[in-house]
Amino acid sequence: MTIAGILTYLIDLIAVLLLALGIKGLSKVRSAREANRLAAIAMGLAVVGVLLGFLFDSGVSIKSWVWIILGTLLGGSLGAITAKKVPMTAMPETVALFNGCGGMSSLLVALGVAFFPISQGAGQLSNGNELIEKLSIVVSIFVGAITFTGSIVAMAKLQGWLSTPSWMESKSRHFVNIAFVVISLIAVIEVLQGNPNGIWLLVVGSSFLGVGVTLPIGGADMPVVISLLNSYSGVAAASAGFVVGSQLLIVAGAMVGAAGLILTQVMCKGMNRSLVSVLFGGALASGESSSSSSSGEYMNITSCSAEECALTLEAAERVVIVPGYGLAVAQAQHTLREVTRVLEASGISVSYGIHPVAGRMPGHMNVLLAEADVPYEQLKEMDVINPEFAATDVVLVLGANDVVNPQAKNDTTSPLYGMPVLDVQDARTVFVIKRGMNAGYSGIKNDLFELNNTSMVFGDAKKVLGDLLVELKELGVGSNK
Ligand code: NDP
Repeated sequence: MTIAGILTYLIDLIAVLLLALGIKGLSKVRSAREANRLAAIAMGLAVVGVLLGFLFDSGVSIKSWVWIILGTLLGGSLGAITAKKVPMTAMPETVALFNGCGGMSSLLVALGVAFFPISQGAGQLSNGNELIEKLSIVVSIFVGAITFTGSIVAMAKLQGWLSTPSWMESKSRHFVNIAFVVISLIAVIEVLQGNPNGIWLLVVGSSFLGVGVTLPIGGADMPVVISLLNSYSGVAAASAGFVVGSQLLIVAGAMVGAAGLILTQVMCKGMNRSLVSVLFGGALASGESSSSSSSGEYMNITSCSAEECALTLEAAERVVIVPGYGLAVAQAQHTLREVTRVLEASGISVSYGIHPVAGRMPGHMNVLLAEADVPYEQLKEMDVINPEFAATDVVLVLGANDVVNPQAKNDTTSPLYGMPVLDVQDARTVFVIKRGMNAGYSGIKNDLFELNNTSMVFGDAKKVLGDLLVELKELGVGSNK
């Protein structure tokens, strides 16, 4: 092996190690930022490694550096601009789009090698075995196309650009999807038998399959789908690695695939859903369901002002904050931190109940509260906080809705039934801070709002928390210590 070859292997090895460290670090809020940086460096090194391989390998002559440089600049700038511009609340859509880009890249790489089989490295890992080469191409096209179209549909649904057509809510959609599976299988057989037209049939069949399986899913099940598509994008990248003979791509893709699968399991557990019921239950769990519970009218709603809320808080010993998507929309995390500092200064115990799917992405609330320097020890997971609500004086529900809906436990007909929720109604008093009576992501009416111990404090979360801060200070809360 030449010195250049050894150098390329070393760079690949370091990139894989950094990527593994990055993925591990992302599992903790504290190390997530550093981990993200490590993973970005790993990707940069991977690109350098590939280019060095091309430069020093005598078998390849790159005639189009201009395109490589232009592509790198364009992709890099788009990534940087997206990272700067996209608000936290739009992260799930962005992640879905990135997953889709991953799927599309694997698809295009496989198509490129299928129609122009000149790429260096292709066939290397298969030792020239034609069947393995063709198999890696069909897997790459199949998973890549499903990931691409599925992710674009998921993004459009999250953005509210697309809703499930009514026929997709019926069981007939399974027959349509089975038809796409059959078309894809026929195409695979054609490709393996050497018919190049089979490739286009496979692209069409798997692309429609991606749309068909994602379109009916909605409501509370969307987070599971996003993490599953993330896993698919890793599988697609790994199979593209086989196609172009890149061990680095295989290892990196396999890691992303495995990490996405673990996240999918965590999300399924958090929502008490099986993966099968998410994938095949489809619109049954969707917020677009026409269930009567989603469109029901509210009766017996009690509302109060920030002043009344402050008076109850003043007398409390134990307060639990339950943040939700609305807190992120209002960007009220810093004002919230000021309010909790005042309460703590007055000797009131404050903790935070964190639901695994609160917000619009896994870990959304943890990241949001970490921005405001909320001590990590105060964040309590659902299993830990639920038994504590009965001994809690006041719960402040801040822009949360679905994750505190008792219907998920009490109403077997509810589309939310079975999803574990925060039992805030067990506390002595519950204040729900939101702008109006709008439903949450699942589109379901929330029975919590009608309970006797619940009071609504209407308004934007940041504004209400600001008013609460003023009222607490006027009452002298926190000023005596
Ligand atoms: P929800 O989406 O259930 O509810 C959010 C509530 O916030 C709304 O009812 C809205 O009511 C209120 N709100 C919006 N803006 C403001 C504001 N500026 N100030 C105060 N309130 C505001 O949020 P949850 O966090 O409870 O639940 C998350 C939902 O999202 C779950 O159904 C989950 O499955 C789903 N999901 C989660 C993902 C994840 O990975 N975490 C990804 C995709 C979906 P109003 O307009 O009346 O103010």
